[in-house]
Amino acid sequence: MHFPATLEILGKTWTVEILPESRLNARREVGEIVYTHTSIAVEDGQSEEQAIDTLLHEAIHAIDYTMAIGLEERQVHALSSGLYALLKQNPALLALFNRPEDEHGG
Ligand SMILES: [Zn+2]
Repeated sequence: MHFPATLEILGKTWTVEILPESRLNARREVGEIVYTHTSIAVEDGQSEEQAIDTLLHEAIHAIDYTMAIGLEERQVHALSSGLYALLKQNPALLALFNRPEDEHGG
């Protein structure tokens, strides 16, 4: 899986690490965010779908933290699942972000 090494989220750069299962499994988590280090970790060995969902989940935690929203864990779960489905099932939506500058044209 080729995850980005960093994510830019609302003006902060978050590092993204893929960690071996053993590191996070001790706490039965598949992802981790350390706000003070602006770092996100995703456990290796998940399905690709699950790993992307986990990355989205931790990114939503980062947004929540940065914007001081105060989301509950279940809300973060729901948002990551919803965003995953939205982006997965609507490739034309994602493509809007990837259009070369010269295609904007008006
Ligand atoms: Zn969480």
